[in-house]
Amino acid sequence: MAQESSPERSEQPAQAPGAPRALVIVDVQNDFCEGGSLAVAGGAEVARRIGRHVAEHGAEYAAIVATADWHEDPGPHFSDHPDFADSWPPHCRVGSDGALFHPGAEQAFEQVQAIFRKGQHAAAYSGFEGFTVEADQRVGLADWLRDRAIEEVDVVGIATDYCVRATTLDALQSGFQVRVLSDLCAGVAPGTSADAISEIQTAGAVIN
Ligand SMILES: [Zn+2]
Repeated sequence: MAQESSPERSEQPAQAPGAPRALVIVDVQNDFCEGGSLAVAGGAEVARRIGRHVAEHGAEYAAIVATADWHEDPGPHFSDHPDFADSWPPHCRVGSDGALFHPGAEQAFEQVQAIFRKGQHAAAYSGFEGFTVEADQRVGLADWLRDRAIEEVDVVGIATDYCVRATTLDALQSGFQVRVLSDLCAGVAPGTSADAISEIQTAGAVIN
C-alpha cells in the first residue's frame, strides 16, 4: 500500500552497496501499549508508525526481524510491588494476549522474517539474548544477522529506556553499525529515555 512513485521517495538514503541493513523491531507487544499490563505512553502510536515505516521502506532492508518479551517464569523480573526499574508487573506471559504483537504494526509483521523470543526464565532486555528456532536449532540474533551478511541495523520499538537501549548496546558490541529511529520508539519515562539516548549515542549509535 501507499506505493508512491514520487521522486521524494528516496529521502532516506538507499541501502549502500555492500552494506546490507536489517530492521530490528523491539517488543511491539500488547502489554507494552495502551491497555496492556505495562503500558508505555505512545506505544500504540509507535506500533502504527512502525507499520507505516515498513510499508513504505521495507524494500530497503535486506532483513526485517522482531524481538519479543516471552515470559514463563522470569523470577524477580515480576513483582506484586514493582519498582519499575528492576521489577515489573507481570507482562508478556507466554500464551497471553499481552504477549501478542500489537495489531497496529500488522503491516510490519507481515514482512518479519524471524522472531527472537527472550526472557523465558529470567529478565532479558536485549533482543540479542533471544533466539529463534530454525531446523530445530536455536539461533541467536547476532548469528542470524551475520549469516545474512548484515552489517548495519536500524532499531525501533519499545521501550527506549530498556529493551531498545539494551538491544542497541548489544548490537554495537556485536560489531554492527546501528541507527536508532527515535520517532519509532517509545519510552517508559522521559528522563530515563533521554539518558538512554545519550548513552547509546556515546556508545556509537546514530540517532535519527
Ligand atoms: Zn519482561
